[in-house]
Amino acid sequence: MAAHHCRACIIFCMDFRLNGALTAFLSIQELDEDGADIIRVAGAAKNLARPNDPRDRDFLLEQLATSARLHGTRQFYLVNHEDCGAYGLEQVPDSDAELTLHSRDLRAGRALLQERFPTIEVLTYFMRLDGRAEPIF
Ligand SMILES: [Zn+2]
Repeated sequence: MAAHHCRACIIFCMDFRLNGALTAFLSIQELDEDGADIIRVAGAAKNLARPNDPRDRDFLLEQLATSARLHGTRQFYLVNHEDCGAYGLEQVPDSDAELTLHSRDLRAGRALLQERFPTIEVLTYFMRLDGRAEPIF
């Protein structure tokens, strides 16, 4: 079996409303050309930062390790989105609070990934329902 590599692995929510936006994001990031593995789980970064069950975090980390091992991925994109159902029970009274909460989870997720995968660059984004994605530093 020939080796087949891609540049990145994306962790993104399962939400069908963002299917088109994800395709556009891949294009903007030039990942349609360079290739990207895509892992879609409800809540994306929440599974790393504050999983409902620790096994959810372990499963996601294992999937990422598989991407790196099989496809030589050099970047992980961790992307959360606006109005996420996995955050539905959280206290997000307004869009500022929502962005604050997602930013916190994205940073915590990034820190965990950097610890586990020190040679892989981790990029974090928050995507609006209209597809606009802003980097979270
Ligand atoms: Zn979601």
